[in-house]
Amino acid sequence: MADKIAVGVLGATGMVGQRYIKLLENHPFFKVTYVAASPRSAGQVYKDVVASKWLIGEDIPADVADLVIQDANDAKAAIGKCKFVFSALELPKKEDIKNLEEAYAAEGIPVVSNASANRWTEDVPMLIPEINFAHLDVIAEQKKHHGWDKGFIAVKPNCSLQTYMMPIHALIQAGYEVKKMVVTTLQATSGAGYPGVPSFDMIDNIVPFIGGEEEKTEKECLKILGTVKNGKIENAALPVVSSTCTRVPVIDGHTACVSLEFGDKKPSMEEIKKIWAAYKSVPQELNLPSSPEHPIVYREEENRPQPRRDRETGKGMACVVGRLRPCNVFDIKFVALSHNTKRGAAMGGILNAELLKVKGFFDNL
Ligand code: NAP
Repeated sequence: MADKIAVGVLGATGMVGQRYIKLLENHPFFKVTYVAASPRSAGQVYKDVVASKWLIGEDIPADVADLVIQDANDAKAAIGKCKFVFSALELPKKEDIKNLEEAYAAEGIPVVSNASANRWTEDVPMLIPEINFAHLDVIAEQKKHHGWDKGFIAVKPNCSLQTYMMPIHALIQAGYEVKKMVVTTLQATSGAGYPGVPSFDMIDNIVPFIGGEEEKTEKECLKILGTVKNGKIENAALPVVSSTCTRVPVIDGHTACVSLEFGDKKPSMEEIKKIWAAYKSVPQELNLPSSPEHPIVYREEENRPQPRRDRETGKGMACVVGRLRPCNVFDIKFVALSHNTKRGAAMGGILNAELLKVKGFFDNL
């Protein structure tokens, strides 16, 4: 523990919070010393509260099992108990999550968040570290703007975007403008948290609507691909996106069927596969503990990727792609998959924190 950073998990009892607790067991940089959830759980021992709803399939880590849960609404309670927090909160009003995350930052406790409440704050980076690590530059402006000395907020995007943004970024980075995208997502049940979608809606069924998801899918990619100007993130103008988001009876692993239209310069199928195979970025160069060796893995089999077979690829952090072929309407189409509670949620948040740590953002805590 001597040189590990003490961390807290807000929403530690939920679907994503439990993933954090398990993934942070024996983490080389971080150690969980603080857990918080709703006032319903506050004051109780962690293992007693999650016993009947532990979903990770392995034992509750021994060093967290006996921690007493605190009320996540009380930011001051975390002072001196942890250096920064992962936020995996789900509150009825987004504004309440925004205010609460800001309250932690104001108390000098940085927040690495999974929630959507701060994704559109223009000086808050929305990170997929392989793509937009340079957006960390806005944190200095954010701290200045709020008068925060140590605290700040960094967030990750919606889980479904992580299923296909790296393959698209790889092509843009190789010089191929992506003008239009049509995407249909098939999103896992765990994406709705616990207890989530009623079983009568989910067994033998597909639900062709997820509240707010299509708006997030169509907008967030533009911020992720944006550039930092004058301490703020300026959104990219392209691609124009049309999405349909569905909930399917899969436990973990979001799938996306994607069609792309390029600008005048169009890559061949073989070139695209070469670009994806060669794609590496800062997390791989820095050898961050949660980074996959190969962020994009292409499967040549005609019936892959599949959630049950492919979601754990690269520690559950790789984007698995297959079925690349010409599109009769746009230029190309493919199917992509990622693990929504690992890459799309807790492990994606941990990767963000690893990047922040290595880049010195936790040095003065
Ligand atoms: P969840 O299973 O419903 O868990 C919600 C957590 O928030 C629980 O710990 C709960 O504590 C706590 N909470 C609820 N009401 C509260 C209150 N009034 N005050 C303080 N804490 C409260 O949700 P989840 O799926 O883990 O999602 C957590 C966050 O991650 C959400 O913002 C979600 O949008 C985001 N996210 C989820 C996924 C995914 O795949 N599931 C992916 C990306 C992002 P109690 O147990 O005490 O009620």
